[in-house]
Amino acid sequence: MGGLENLVANTAYLNAQGGDDKELRRRRRSLLLPRPEQCAAIRSSIPLDFEQVCERQPIGKKLFRQFLLASKPEYTAAAEFLDELNEWDLEESGSKDKARQNIMNKFCRAESNSFLSYLSGDVTDKCKAVSEKDFDEVMMGKVKDATKKFLKGKPFTEFHSSLFFDRFVQWKAYEKQPISEKYFYEFRTLGKGGFGEVCAVQVKNTGHMYACKKLDKKHLKKKGGGAMSMLEKRILEKVNSRFLVNLAYAFDTTTHLCLVMSLMTGGDLKYHIYNMGERGIEPNRVIYYTAQITVGLLHLHAMDIVYRDMKPENVLLDSQGQCRLSDLGLAVELPSGKTICQKAGTSGYMAPEILKEEPYRMSVDWWALGCSIYEMVAGRLPFKDYKEKVQKEEVARRTLEDECKFEHKGFDAASKDIISLFLKKKPEERLGCNGDDLRKHEFFKSISFPRLEAGLIKPPWVPKPNVVYAKDMGDIRDFSEVKGVEFDSNDEKFFKEFSTGAVSIPWQQEMIDSGLFDELNDPNRKESSWGLKEN
Ligand code: ADP
Ligand code: MG
Ligand code: MG
Repeated sequence: MGGLENLVANTAYLNAQGGDDKELRRRRRSLLLPRPEQCAAIRSSIPLDFEQVCERQPIGKKLFRQFLLASKPEYTAAAEFLDELNEWDLEESGSKDKARQNIMNKFCRAESNSFLSYLSGDVTDKCKAVSEKDFDEVMMGKVKDATKKFLKGKPFTEFHSSLFFDRFVQWKAYEKQPISEKYFYEFRTLGKGGFGEVCAVQVKNTGHMYACKKLDKKHLKKKGGGAMSMLEKRILEKVNSRFLVNLAYAFDTTTHLCLVMSLMTGGDLKYHIYNMGERGIEPNRVIYYTAQITVGLLHLHAMDIVYRDMKPENVLLDSQGQCRLSDLGLAVELPSGKTICQKAGTSGYMAPEILKEEPYRMSVDWWALGCSIYEMVAGRLPFKDYKEKVQKEEVARRTLEDECKFEHKGFDAASKDIISLFLKKKPEERLGCNGDDLRKHEFFKSISFPRLEAGLIKPPWVPKPNVVYAKDMGDIRDFSEVKGVEFDSNDEKFFKEFSTGAVSIPWQQEMIDSGLFDELNDPNRKESSWGLKEN
């Protein structure tokens, strides 16, 4: 691939990220939601589940909120109360007092228009008598619970037979549309994986950019990679976290299975450790990335999933400088109580219990995180030096027998301590496995985890917008074709099972973030004779 071609590909890719509003508007003008009469089957397939419809799905949540605000005053008060309580919870300590006072004046005083009049019994008394001291306990506890319980009852039932729910059904029908390669524009290759390349794509209707991991069907069949890929897909679509690469679409073409995921343009942490000047990463960035990785791992573990491939290379940065874990190809689900002994992972990051092929669960991820923090600070692994030519067996021996040394000047007391705790050879003594809350460790003293989880802490380093943090295309493109593979009906069935289209939560978020949600709901939209009527 020539330098000029590379430049053209990069320019197209960078321009697309900039967005072209005029072109987008033109394309969107003809879009319509499916008509209500086309949605009967979808309607009956939606479970009457408050949490699923009104809390987890972004469009459901938004429409339920709009319904509450357009209904009775006490419904409005409940919706505003939950919003403001949530904002208060995430407020920086300096502004917390004022927000708390506002909530108390607005919702806890019987004479206020927004008094929470749906409360009853002792919860009402507690709410009226709340003070600054017991605010957290009372409002975040009993009052919040009672509010949710209230909303789940009559308001939810009324929502279900309102025009707002009709609109939700239309969006669900739209979400279920078949997805093909025509849904996207394709841009440059970003990287290469075991079964094909990963490239940047853009959704034509929203302008949203994603990464598309393309798995060559013939290659998959020949190497028997189908089951593994399906497992990766199933895990990806299940997790929904700010700190994990999320799956937005799964579809297939005649030649490939495609996974469309969060686009990470800032490069991986291995690149940042070794290819950006002096080896290693600055301390404040190491703490920030480690905190995000920690939350990502906790999200996986909470779903009984072990990642098993924790290493800087698999941590990718987005355009803002926030990181996410990627490549869930080795992840496995282990229902509570179940263990596994299978040797899996990358040399240098594998925990003693894996090397000894003993039964393990989540402990191996915390070991690998210890290795990764060490590497971010020192530019080498605890048991393998930079560019050291050494056999896997020797790395394994050192992992099992040697103590980790901290010779690099970049280590301070807190980083040494947390690494040592993650590198405890016995899993039951290891931080993350021994019952201690690792988020409370001294190493994280500058991080407020609730604010981090809400995406409110500014990244310490932001990638330059005009730089492509990926190797040149010539280095990563792979043209080799697999010959002599034919597909049978079982293969076709498998491809179909894989190609499930849009994944609800990220898809709905994309509709909202891109403004398409508001555009198609606009009652004044010319093409829509069925615009949402006032309630
Ligand atoms: P494999 O499991 O086959 O190794 P990966 O998921 O690791 O495939 O992807 C291969 C490469 O593609 C990565 O090393 C990275 O360079 C790039 N890549 C993967 N996912 C993304 C993403 N979400 N955004 C940007 N680049 C990505
Ligand atoms: Mg990989
Ligand atoms: Mg993989």
